[in-house]
Amino acid sequence: MNEELNRVYNFSAGPSMMPLEVLEKAKEQLLCYPGAGCSVMEMSHRTPSFEEILAKTKGTLRKIMEIPDDYEVLFMQGGATTQFSMIPMNLGKQGDTFCYMQTGQFATKAKEEGDRWGNAVYVASSKADNYSYIPVCGELPSDAKFLHITGNNTIFGVAFNDYERVLPKSVLPQNGKNSEIPLVADWSSAIIGKVIDVKKHGLIYAGAQKNMGPAGLAVVIIRKDLLENEIDKVVPIMMRYKVAADHDSMYNTPPTFSIYMAGLMYEWVEKMGGVAEMEKINIQKSSMLYDFIDNSKVFNNPVNAIDRSIMNITFTLPDKQSTEDFLKLCKDNGLINLKGHRSVGGCRASIYNGMPVEGVKKLLELMKKFEAQY
Ligand SMILES: *Cc1c(COP(=O)(O)O)cnc(C)c1O
Repeated sequence: MNEELNRVYNFSAGPSMMPLEVLEKAKEQLLCYPGAGCSVMEMSHRTPSFEEILAKTKGTLRKIMEIPDDYEVLFMQGGATTQFSMIPMNLGKQGDTFCYMQTGQFATKAKEEGDRWGNAVYVASSKADNYSYIPVCGELPSDAKFLHITGNNTIFGVAFNDYERVLPKSVLPQNGKNSEIPLVADWSSAIIGKVIDVKKHGLIYAGAQKNMGPAGLAVVIIRKDLLENEIDKVVPIMMRYKVAADHDSMYNTPPTFSIYMAGLMYEWVEKMGGVAEMEKINIQKSSMLYDFIDNSKVFNNPVNAIDRSIMNITFTLPDKQSTEDFLKLCKDNGLINLKGHRSVGGCRASIYNGMPVEGVKKLLELMKKFEAQY
């Protein structure tokens, strides 16, 4: 199928590969969504057809992530980046204390926005070791409005794999009761690619373009009591979670086509056996690469083994020339976007849900071939 269509294996960190089956379904319905007489792109968001798409998309996400009833699901615009500023504006007032764990570039950017609204502080950081592990976070100042973490660090390939080991007690529910301080997590690059226990969070957010469709959409999952926070009057209406919730994510025109595509991705995950099954496949894919890298004399991964991401696998080669040679070998064989983020160099294989096992096997073959010839 890939050969026929000339489709490459795209290892991009995002926007990323989507399953062919999902794209084919979209193609089939592109000109005319069943019963609507027009494309989803042409459809008014105030029609029964779109309302049905929205309800179904939300319902399927609720099901595959097992989102409890006391959480609201919001479809927002502005990417994950806009959430960096919406979170402090909605969970606190100007001057309040906001806590951040600095485990990479996105965490740093999130804190910068917190700084603009209040007193943002790093309570743990792995910057000095180039973000190669998840640091353990001690207790927080008691007036903290939230603790922000980047669940899966897309750039360095580091992830929070064990909350209990690294997070303070005050941000985790105790004896079935909500935590004292809400945990806010950016799960952009792993959402629906691994099991995330929603109940442990006050708020989860994610840009769609990594694991759940095209860009243009961000998903926010927020515990309902946090929607009732009193917030500053200056917060724009469009930037209020409560407004989004009261209007079922349609205070204004939502990114209709991106929502529809995310819905197709959710249905696909459901059909594949759900998020736990996706996680199993993603562990299998990433282990193939890590196992090889750990026994290689040419390829290296610097990340602390227990903190490794199953979605973004970073690796280095001995020098610039060998890195370029390897990237060229990949490209010549239809494997693209393996270059590491500009801030770290080296290589990075992003293997989200849409990346089939065959793509990873092909990458592994090339790594073996390269090593044999090196
Ligand atoms: C990609 C990414 C972002 C930025 O997302 P945008 O949708 O481009 O704003 C933020 N956080 C993480 C963890 C990401 O992977």
